[in-house]
Amino acid sequence: MDYEAVIGMEVHVEINSKSKVFCSCPTDFHAPPNTNVCPICLGMPGALPVLNRDMVNKSIAVGLALGCKISRWSKMDRKNYFYPDLAKNYQISQYDLPLCDNGALEIEVDGGSKRIGITRAHMEEDTARNTHALGGGQSGIDFNRSGVPLLEIVTEPDIRSAREAHAYLTALKQILQYLDVSDCNMEEGSLRAEANISLRPKGHAEFGVKTEVKNVASFSGVQKAIEFEIARQEQILRSGGVIIQETRGWDADRGITFSQRKKESAHDYRYFPEPDLPPIVVDDAWEQRIRHQLPELPMARKQRLEAQYGLSGYDAHVITLSRNFADYYEKVVASGADPKKAANWLTVELQALLSEAKAEITACRVAPDALAALLKLIDTGEINGKIAKEVLAEMFTSGQSPDSIVQEKGLNQISDTGAIEDAVKQVIGASPNQVAQYKEGKEKVFGYFVGQVMKATQGKGNPQLVNEILRRELGR
Ligand SMILES: [Zn+2]
Repeated sequence: MDYEAVIGMEVHVEINSKSKVFCSCPTDFHAPPNTNVCPICLGMPGALPVLNRDMVNKSIAVGLALGCKISRWSKMDRKNYFYPDLAKNYQISQYDLPLCDNGALEIEVDGGSKRIGITRAHMEEDTARNTHALGGGQSGIDFNRSGVPLLEIVTEPDIRSAREAHAYLTALKQILQYLDVSDCNMEEGSLRAEANISLRPKGHAEFGVKTEVKNVASFSGVQKAIEFEIARQEQILRSGGVIIQETRGWDADRGITFSQRKKESAHDYRYFPEPDLPPIVVDDAWEQRIRHQLPELPMARKQRLEAQYGLSGYDAHVITLSRNFADYYEKVVASGADPKKAANWLTVELQALLSEAKAEITACRVAPDALAALLKLIDTGEINGKIAKEVLAEMFTSGQSPDSIVQEKGLNQISDTGAIEDAVKQVIGASPNQVAQYKEGKEKVFGYFVGQVMKATQGKGNPQLVNEILRRELGR
């Protein structure tokens, strides 16, 4: 019997609003513990929450970008449970009437595309943060995170593999970054993904018992955790065992999931409407206002770059992975660079420098018009491509303009025929064996001569001239 995996994702996104969702405390992640707090986010009895409008605006933007219906009337509810990081003994969330529902996200996977249904996106508050790393058997709690605006985005069980889950998370993060509603920093917990995984015999409509994998720190971790969980469940089912519905953690070092606790059902939480907050009424005008402010989304931008600049699907994909990267690219082109060459230098050479420095394009010292100027130096024959790479590396560290680097270091390409002829004659004179081989018809030796001449000109020889003069002087 063949099994099929059925996977749904729940993603919690911390929305980058300046203040918390129900009070005016700042949301700064780096503040010292328990400094961004007030009676409301400390859960003091009698403190009254007020909903943050910016949170609602940004949640509507996410909903619209995911093709959701925005509810004209929704409400907040209390989700009751006890845990040390939840001082009120309930979390304010949304239960049966979420702000956004019934959307979809198109993902690209294995060369095709697939639609993943979005069940809902609802607003809630983050909890405080427990830490057990204080030493001496002591634990601490930091209420700075308590009340940070959180949007939970839930998919339909449409995902069938760990790779699809990874593609979904990548596409979702891309949209959130384009909307500029979250920094999506997984290490700081701004984006947290959980996966529900079950197996069923292929062709069956009924779902199997699911487990939920939580607290995974990276997208690749989520992919590995799902792969592990599919294999674990399949082994249990094949040997006649039963799957227990539970929450499982992910041990990244050992590459395994492990049982954490039995999963509660909705009725365990005793949801009821939050009596301290009025319902949220979003009229047509409000929704339209947010819709008009939406930026061009990743998929649309990718298609436009392909059409407008003649980019390959791959280049357009790489460039539009981040909005800042795409903005940078379009600035380089606007500064007069050839679109395809700009794409190539950006996705290969500049990207390599950024990766090595672990830097974001926004912190890059190479200004878009400076990159365009560098490409122009290649086009006009002032420097060759090899030297240009060195110049770019120098621009990347010093922030200098390409012209001043080329002048200061004397990197101008040698296009003086006489100088190249001298170098060619020298190399030929010093390599009698290679000359003999070449004359016998060993074409491969030609590359040796080119290398030697470039070496003699410190890499600055005009490659085309070097080739021409070598051919002429070597004869056959
Ligand atoms: Zn507060």
